[in-house]
Amino acid sequence: MEYLSTRGGSSGQGFEDVLLTGLAPDGGLFVPAELPHFSAGELSRMRDLSYAELATRIASIFTSGAFPAAELRRMIESSYAGFSHPQVAPLTALADGEYVLELFHGPTLAFKDFALQVLGRMLDYILVRDGRRVLILGATSGDTGSAALEGCRHSAQVDICILHPHEKVSAVQRKQMTTVAGENVRNLAVEGNFDDCQRLVKAAFADQSFLPPDRQLVAVNSINWARIVMQIVYYIHAGLRLGAPERAVSFAVPTGNFGDIYAGYLAREMGLPVDRLIVATNENDILHRFISANEYSIAPLRHTLSPSMDILISSNFERYLYELLDRDSEALAQFMADGAAGGASLADRRWRAMREVFASASVDDAATCATIAEVWRDHGVLLDPHSAIGVRAARDCGRDPDVPVICLATAHPAKFAEAVSAAGLPPPELPERLQRQFRQPERYRVVENDLAGLTAMLGGWAT
Ligand SMILES: *Cc1c(COP(=O)(O)O)cnc(C)c1O
Repeated sequence: MEYLSTRGGSSGQGFEDVLLTGLAPDGGLFVPAELPHFSAGELSRMRDLSYAELATRIASIFTSGAFPAAELRRMIESSYAGFSHPQVAPLTALADGEYVLELFHGPTLAFKDFALQVLGRMLDYILVRDGRRVLILGATSGDTGSAALEGCRHSAQVDICILHPHEKVSAVQRKQMTTVAGENVRNLAVEGNFDDCQRLVKAAFADQSFLPPDRQLVAVNSINWARIVMQIVYYIHAGLRLGAPERAVSFAVPTGNFGDIYAGYLAREMGLPVDRLIVATNENDILHRFISANEYSIAPLRHTLSPSMDILISSNFERYLYELLDRDSEALAQFMADGAAGGASLADRRWRAMREVFASASVDDAATCATIAEVWRDHGVLLDPHSAIGVRAARDCGRDPDVPVICLATAHPAKFAEAVSAAGLPPPELPERLQRQFRQPERYRVVENDLAGLTAMLGGWAT
């Protein structure tokens, strides 16, 4: 399979390039030149596959040729063998026709493990084969950092350094990062906010001359295509269990950078009968305003009880817009420039085409807490605040009684005890695996918000 950039500047890239590059050289995002399509018969035959088997089947199409088949299977099997639930991504029924898809049984208790566990192994395979080392550098305000650290800590050829804003992440989030053991793992607490961390990372990527010539930085943030691929799997797996391809299903997805729900869109394009994809946002609602009112404009950042969705713009949305605009890179660039300059909107027929697929709702903190309390009272299921936003959005959008709706539960409630307390419920206990991890010593260094200091440290560490 070949990949091209949404901005039109590169094409003909293979999976390996895309995995190691992240952003395309022209500033665009990589998308496959052509998507595979499964017939109803092919989908039916996938029903009996285990989670890891289905994941291998799908990954083998998108990675074509990058890994020997047996290697790919081994990487995927060992990734999901580390999940604490035998079904990997179990479905729980709430009300009639309303389901929760539990995506929090991985090592860091959030859905990002589905992709990052595999990504770490894929990187390692390529680097060992080529006798190279890379340095993964990232900034996090929460879940990505710990999932990336867990995914890469066993990688012999990868060093990983994650920046977080000092004293501005929760204690659970900090410990999830700083108690990850590994010679190749570094955590830096930057005296500044999340934007400062991101600025430092961006500047380091822009000029990598501080690294020895045989080294490069790699990003594993949400635009990395390999992450999207591994997220397609649970949509198809869940749809098949609820009657697809004979019956359509809908999904409600708590959305920040649009990476998770974009994978759902791809599953639909690949043949899974998906009636609607519900974009569930918190008060950072640029996507909800766009889908409901054709108004794409950046609003000030709000800090909410669902911090993993506190974003200004949704970086992966560009991939969907590119398709919606019939792969016209110039029109896409214009739209994005207008959006950044004040506001953009679509021609009416295109906006309507988007609304054929996507519905949306924005859920504030009060409604998030009310939903956590309501679902606990009515169904005995404790949701984390992100997952509660998905359920609330599904209910607010209403539904066809013949089409089940699957609400993605993206994190374990114990990760966000503050929101559970705000909902008037006792804080949930940390799962055993995390309690054990938190007994390990914390290892991190507090550093100034200073690029020269950071690059000197990284350069010294890479030699
Ligand atoms: C990252 C994250 C999200 C948002 O996912 P996107 O792919 O950025 O839309 C939602 N919930 C949780 C718990 C997350 O960690």
